[in-house]
Amino acid sequence: MNITGKTRVLAVIGDPVSHSLSPIMHNGWIADHGIDAAYVAIPLVSEDAENEIRAMCRFGFAGVNVTVPHKHAAAAAADRSEANVANVLRWEKDGSVSGFNTDGVGFLDALTEAAPDWRMRVKRVLMIGAGGAAVGVAAALNAHVDTIHFANRTHARAEAAADGLRAGRVLRWDDLERGFGAADLIVQATSLGMEGNPAPAWPMAAAKPGAICADIVYRPLDTEFLRAARGRGLVAIDGLGMLIHQGARAFEHWFGVRPDAGKARERLIEALSS
Ligand code: NAP
Repeated sequence: MNITGKTRVLAVIGDPVSHSLSPIMHNGWIADHGIDAAYVAIPLVSEDAENEIRAMCRFGFAGVNVTVPHKHAAAAAADRSEANVANVLRWEKDGSVSGFNTDGVGFLDALTEAAPDWRMRVKRVLMIGAGGAAVGVAAALNAHVDTIHFANRTHARAEAAADGLRAGRVLRWDDLERGFGAADLIVQATSLGMEGNPAPAWPMAAAKPGAICADIVYRPLDTEFLRAARGRGLVAIDGLGMLIHQGARAFEHWFGVRPDAGKARERLIEALSS
């Protein structure tokens, strides 16, 4: 990478960001396409992220990804945003800022990659979790399925997530087994199963024979949820697919080209195993 005064700068901002795989992913694609740009991780610890993000406009960033906990602030800071939670910002030629949410569509891309016929197979979804990621994924699925049942440890959050979605429904956390038995697509969208946050014994034995199982956790890449799904012979989709495809959509918003998801997967698997 040859950084000069003309090199364009992009970043992921959030708290924390030191663990982020986005710099490896985007700098790999920047090199693949011979673009004069560099992508860095910038920690933003702030109670007023909306104003801090607005101030970034004056620094000539080419674009940013925004991660936890600033996605709402990013959408609010943008002059226009396609959703009220934004994980991508793009600075336009007139100085204005556009916000996008590529998390949900990134999940759909990963789903299509692993199960191309999912639109014909999936009518009922079990969404385990009701945090920011679950809500983003559910919003993208909403137009394509009959029902999305949210099961979340904190029930009120499940109700809030289901509210306003045509397909949104709620399921009690202690009724997961019934949810597994009814779903064509089961999405594990909590932080359970992440390093340091062990998962419970999922009731995978109850899942339908043709169910598709997706975990959005990617550290570790091979989670207990995915192992249980594979053990039943079900389609098991890891969290790296969503990460890569949301990133690919962001890259396209900034540079107008869709980068190679396969190359990113190779690089990120190497990074995760080192
Ligand atoms: P979040 O808004 O903080 O939500 C966390 C979710 O996990 C909530 O539903 C929470 O339930 C649940 N949870 C946490 N600890 C739990 C426990 N011990 N028992 C039961 N439920 C528990 O976080 P998020 O942004 O949605 O992210 C969730 C996970 O998705 C993280 O692991 C994140 O790394 C991953 N993620 C992956 C991608 C990707 O591209 N693959 C993108 C975004 C996020 P309560 O509401 O009860 O607290």
